[in-house]
Amino acid sequence: MNGLIGPLEHDGDAAASAPFASDWYAAEAVAAPVRGALAIDLDVDVCVIGGGLAGLTTAREVARRGWSVVVLEAGRIGGAASGRNTGFVLPGFGEDLDTIVERIGVDHARELWSLSERGLAYVRETIAETKMPGVKQEPGWLYVAKTDRDADLEKLASDLRDFGTEAEYWPREHVRAQLPSERYFGAVHYPRAFAINPLNYVLGLAAAAEQAGVRIFEDTPAVSIDPAGVRKRITTPLARVRASHVVLAGNVDLGPLMPRLSATLVPITTYVMVTQPLGQKLADTLAYRGAVSDGDRADNHYRIVGGDRLMWSGRMSTTPRNPRRYARTLARDIMRLYPQLGPVAAAHLWNGTLGLPIHRMPQIGELHPGVWVASGFGGHGLNTTAMAGELVARGIVEEDETWRLFAPYELVWAGGRAGRTVMRTLSLVGRPVDQAHQAWARSRERARRRKDARRAARRKLQEQVAALTPTSVSALAPMSSAAPEPIVTAEAAAPPLAETVAPATLEIAPPQLASDAPAPEPAPVMEPESAAAVAEKPVEPATKPRKRKKGKKKPAASGNKTVETAGS
Ligand SMILES: Cc1cc2nc3c(=O)[nH]c(=O)nc-3n(C[C@H](O)[C@H](O)[C@H](O)COP(=O)(O)OP(=O)(O)OC[C@H]3O[C@@H](n4cnc5c(N)ncnc54)[C@H](O)[C@@H]3O)c2cc1C
Repeated sequence: MNGLIGPLEHDGDAAASAPFASDWYAAEAVAAPVRGALAIDLDVDVCVIGGGLAGLTTAREVARRGWSVVVLEAGRIGGAASGRNTGFVLPGFGEDLDTIVERIGVDHARELWSLSERGLAYVRETIAETKMPGVKQEPGWLYVAKTDRDADLEKLASDLRDFGTEAEYWPREHVRAQLPSERYFGAVHYPRAFAINPLNYVLGLAAAAEQAGVRIFEDTPAVSIDPAGVRKRITTPLARVRASHVVLAGNVDLGPLMPRLSATLVPITTYVMVTQPLGQKLADTLAYRGAVSDGDRADNHYRIVGGDRLMWSGRMSTTPRNPRRYARTLARDIMRLYPQLGPVAAAHLWNGTLGLPIHRMPQIGELHPGVWVASGFGGHGLNTTAMAGELVARGIVEEDETWRLFAPYELVWAGGRAGRTVMRTLSLVGRPVDQAHQAWARSRERARRRKDARRAARRKLQEQVAALTPTSVSALAPMSSAAPEPIVTAEAAAPPLAETVAPATLEIAPPQLASDAPAPEPAPVMEPESAAAVAEKPVEPATKPRKRKKGKKKPAASGNKTVETAGS
């Protein structure tokens, strides 16, 4: 075993069979009852399939409106993505703001954005209302760029404010004062976003749902559904449920039950590590205490946990792999950004799988009369599952049709195996392209620094020459010529200083750099956009993007891709 990995406090393999796969969270988990399997037939208003965040929020909101609800969970509450994620509660969606605006227009995008903000508020309110234990809210999220696209970030912050989200642009000096990595440039700070312990949130949500009247059965997979007729029939291994409405909230695990629905999601597995304690050097290095994301892909989402450890999430695969395989890679990712931390070792490792629709927007709505879907939340599920739960519950009980705002993001086949290959290719091609862009940004910065140094040296030279008083000039004059020249003032001599005062005379050597022009930049090999475009072509939805209404301006928002895992 090498020093980067170290002995795990819990083994990643063993964790996979533990009740909660994320052993870091499991160690901090609040007490939760083990709920028995469904063993008798039930008749209810609503049957929710899936006991993750989406299913539990929907169930709680239906029950709060007075209807009877049952939740069927194949494994344990919080055993899937909802209890294994990095816990960033953010506004927005997996898709970035400018792409949403481009597709559906500014006004429509504004409505969706405010729903996403409502999701964030729901989480905050639920924690407060229920006095949820063990959630450990930490304020703030910083979205950091690893390239010098400061103008884009300034624009993004301004567009976000225009959409009602508190956001501020941080220039690179400020970012590096908080997160001292030479790989970092500007950032957008979201002061109202926050991070939580997601397992305790999902366990707390289950308790709140039960308090509202929901009945939850664990170890109860729905094995078939008969959606025809007014009363839907859901079969489980030991008993059956009859319900007027069924809500499919099974994320990527719904496959065998609804293969066509699950074919609309690309399963993406990402890897999470909690380091061994890093001691004082962590506090000395990271001044920012909130959550951080620094990639548009699955990599580098992190925050401080347990006082002096880093929770670090990154990398992705389209089939789940043993998390131990990623220990060294994740540790190297940390060291690349923060060499000052020295070697870091993993104490906890786990993975989680999220479901990503091709359009990177949630799938919310009524598929057939009485059959609802709440799925496809990608790496942005904490706020969007909450939003979806409220929308679906209102749709079912109050016949509210706000969920139709998501109609442009209909179910689109994700390409099956080909879709996974596309994702893997995107990741394989995208990562080096990103890295090239980042390297160029750093080399531009080095060139700029050299230029600044030359300027400073020249300024110093000029100051020293200007400091030569008329007296000193006149003192030199008689020695240079038999015929005394008129005394010139320093002011009059000033303009052509650099030419008239030879470095040799003053013994101040100018810097040895040849030119003031920045270092030439290598031509890009491939733009990431074009890579994405090529790769997405075969699976692009048939849905036509809506035309933007005349006279409606789109805010040219930029780069708010949070990744597949904002945490991922
Ligand atoms: C590593 C990782 C990090 C992430 N970080 C963040 C983050 O920081 N912020 C953020 O917003 N999002 C994040 N996400 C995404 C977020 O976790 C998910 O989008 C969200 O949890 C999805 O919730 P869900 O309820 O749809 O699915 P799940 O949590 O997967 O729940 C679905 C449940 O349905 C059950 N089920 C499936 N089929 C059946 C069946 N037939 N019968 C009964 N039950 C069934 C499953 O057992 C499962 O428990 C992350 C995801 C991962 C994997």
